[in-house]
Amino acid sequence: MSAQEGKTGATAGVAFVGCDGKATPAAQGRRREVVVNGRRVRTVDVHAHCAIPEAKAMVGEPMEPALLMSTPADRLRAMDEQGIDVEALSINPFWYTVDRDVARDLIRLQNEKLAEVCAAMPDRFVAFATVALQHPDLAVEQVEEGVKKFGLRGVSTGGSVNGMELADPKLHPFWAKVEQLGVLVFIHPQGTDELEESGRLNGNGVLTNTIGNPLETTIALSHLIFEGTLDRFPGLKICAAHAGGFLPSYAGRSDQGCLTFPDRCTGQLKHKPTEYVRQLYYDNIIFTPEGMRHLVAETGPGQVVMGTDYPYPWTKTSVDLILATPGLSDADRVAILGGTAAKLLGIKT
Ligand SMILES: [Zn+2]
Repeated sequence: MSAQEGKTGATAGVAFVGCDGKATPAAQGRRREVVVNGRRVRTVDVHAHCAIPEAKAMVGEPMEPALLMSTPADRLRAMDEQGIDVEALSINPFWYTVDRDVARDLIRLQNEKLAEVCAAMPDRFVAFATVALQHPDLAVEQVEEGVKKFGLRGVSTGGSVNGMELADPKLHPFWAKVEQLGVLVFIHPQGTDELEESGRLNGNGVLTNTIGNPLETTIALSHLIFEGTLDRFPGLKICAAHAGGFLPSYAGRSDQGCLTFPDRCTGQLKHKPTEYVRQLYYDNIIFTPEGMRHLVAETGPGQVVMGTDYPYPWTKTSVDLILATPGLSDADRVAILGGTAAKLLGIKT
């Protein structure tokens, strides 16, 4: 089915879930209109999850029966209540171990269904294409089809691909295609399996997520910098989940490492590592105004976009966090609330 054909009833088969794959209860409330200095701002959430039950079923991924009955109504209510005008939907990869033929069918179905959701409610949803990065040449075709045929606005990836780093030279054709298409790449971590296997993240405090997820993002971005991927493909537009993990909070150490241990740095970068940090984009899932202030100080106000992690209940106040961050101009707030993401995702403002 094409995106056009999906205009009516297109969302019946779509379930919206959180990072952990669980559904959340309905939110209540009227639509909040976000205004900065008298100007209505069209807000954009770049970090919002969903799943396609039919795609999960293809590889036997469990999906609770209740999810199959889900509709976007609960999500729209939550968006309205939180002041989110547009969500950029993404799907966390569960297909990175799947063989080529299944991956081809799964991704096509998934991208088609994502396009149907967006076509049914074009003023509220855009989506990132999904790709089978474990088959890089296939992923090249899939991102092109996702963007050109299905009208998806970017592409989402995990922080690694079944043990392979995003900076692996095998993925150079993918990065070249994404750079050529000029679309945004949203990197969402899947945790650090290696640490989970060792048991170091066991125990109280859900450390597999609070530490494991931002750590994977930190590792992924650091390799993209230090392996020269960002030098090789300077036009890439990459947005990292969870405020870029730990990288922007401790970026100075990345500059200092090669000065301290030059023998361990075999590749020559065109810029200082922190200069790449200022090229990347980050969502604002960092919870405190001081965290936001520091993120903006390290990366620049034009590099931060809004994220909620919906429907996983990490935060319901991403808009308020931007409004409460000290030191931002009105133009900065408008950009972070939606202006920058709208440009990156081709959303009309
Ligand atoms: Zn998430």
